[in-house]
Amino acid sequence: MSRPIEAHINLGALQHNLAQTKALVGHSRIWAVIKANGYGHGLLRVAGALNRADGFAVASVDEALQLRQAGFLHPILLLEGLFDASELSLVLQHRLDLVVHSHHQVDWLLAQTIKEPLHLWLKLDTGMHRLGFNEEGLHQALFRLKHHAPRFKCHLMSHLACAEDDTPFNQYQYQQLLAANTNYQYKLSLANSAAIQTAPQTHLNWVRPGIMLYGAGILASQKERFKPVMTLTSRVIALKWIEAGEGVGYGQTWQASQTTCLAIVAVGYGDGYPRHATNGTPVLISGMRFSLVGRVSMDMITVDVTANAQQIKLNDPVELWGPNLSVDEVAEHANTIGYELLCGITQRVKIKELTQDEL
Ligand SMILES: *Cc1c(COP(=O)(O)O)cnc(C)c1O
Repeated sequence: MSRPIEAHINLGALQHNLAQTKALVGHSRIWAVIKANGYGHGLLRVAGALNRADGFAVASVDEALQLRQAGFLHPILLLEGLFDASELSLVLQHRLDLVVHSHHQVDWLLAQTIKEPLHLWLKLDTGMHRLGFNEEGLHQALFRLKHHAPRFKCHLMSHLACAEDDTPFNQYQYQQLLAANTNYQYKLSLANSAAIQTAPQTHLNWVRPGIMLYGAGILASQKERFKPVMTLTSRVIALKWIEAGEGVGYGQTWQASQTTCLAIVAVGYGDGYPRHATNGTPVLISGMRFSLVGRVSMDMITVDVTANAQQIKLNDPVELWGPNLSVDEVAEHANTIGYELLCGITQRVKIKELTQDEL
């Protein structure tokens, strides 16, 4: 047997999660967000399973071209728009939709003669203070674009800063977007996964779900409806007993307080398991929940299995995250978010596709 770390990607769960998202958003159209290699699940694999989405949103022309070359005819939105004027010819050739967040991007658009219709998503900064125009800048940009090229089909979008929290700021940002649109009646897009789940008024014309499609970032009230897509598995490659007072791993950051049985599992930060996972991070071995102890190494972790030592054997299956242990819970123990763990799976992890719930 080769090194046993694998990421199982449940394509049936992806389709299920898209259907559940559709049920939540009703008539709003769906940009399935598949940037960052489909949140670590594989760009083309994910696009194939999500082909009933109304469009795909990615971060680069490179990702968009991979989709076009694989034959996807959907609308594709570039979430950060043009990075350089030279990208425009590929954008036109492949009929990509562009976010326009700054005047320099408007300059690039106006510097060329554009014959094909081009969908532009003008981004209003309603409080995130990352990308986007302020309201006056938005009106100027729209004026410049309208004036010069009737080929531009304009839409408005914004992004929520605190969608995961129940704060009046969400309502404020929503109102800012609506107010900016008073004299235009353009199509609008605002909601990411968190807003889709908590704030139905923000759904508007197009929603932009990412993390929820992968079955993470799900609110407690929606847990039953969504299924985790990635299961990261490995195996126990060694077992040993240590005495009270003995330390474990680099820096000996954890000391046994009693005679302790350790299971050594073949997964480490070289696979994308978070190095900052703390003592007590849950690990499932043969379906039983145990605690990580000591530092995460590049290729291994150590798990305290003393409580059920008799039942744990060499080669036993390990779930690092998946349907029985949420990636968000593991992430919390590493002071990060599920997004980062999913995106961080490294090249050496073998990918296995599941078409339905085989696990
Ligand atoms: C990544 C991204 C999303 C998706 O966010 P999730 O929290 O994963 O749903 C939506 N909109 C924009 C602009 C993004 O960059």
